[in-house]
Amino acid sequence: MFGVKIGRDVKITLHRFTDYFQGFEKVDAVRETFGDETEKVLSDLKVEFYSGRRGYMGVSDRDGHMMVSAYYLRNGGERDLYLDVIHELVHVKQFMDGRELFEHRREYVDRPTEVEAYQHTVKEARRIGMSDEQIYEYLKTEWMSEEDLHRLANAVGVKIPSRKS
Ligand SMILES: [Zn+2]
Repeated sequence: MFGVKIGRDVKITLHRFTDYFQGFEKVDAVRETFGDETEKVLSDLKVEFYSGRRGYMGVSDRDGHMMVSAYYLRNGGERDLYLDVIHELVHVKQFMDGRELFEHRREYVDRPTEVEAYQHTVKEARRIGMSDEQIYEYLKTEWMSEEDLHRLANAVGVKIPSRKS
């Protein structure tokens, strides 16, 4: 039709997680997630890099591979990237356990899968010495309303900084 031909069977390029993210199998917070299977899970894990500035990282609810914004990977702070990987690996585990990652009937900050991933990440953030104020900043994203952010902070036990006037 229209005198054109469109190749529709596009193969998405997946990379090995461990080709880009090394040493995570030694991180206690990650071992807590996968236990003795840590090495195997991480060496089997695939990661897809996408262009564009939308979002940071995520996990496919179709096959459980990780998706990472190449822009964020290039420009994000090292500590944020570290914590985000730990967060996403919790979602990888949840996917392996057959849990529904994106319950669309609930707000992002109210999804049990998100609260669990954030709780785990906040614990690691504290371990590496971040203050509640720093963790609160870390939780903040441009698409989260202040009310949502407060709800999330409460759900994961992070103190909400008192407003400076
Ligand atoms: Zn998440």
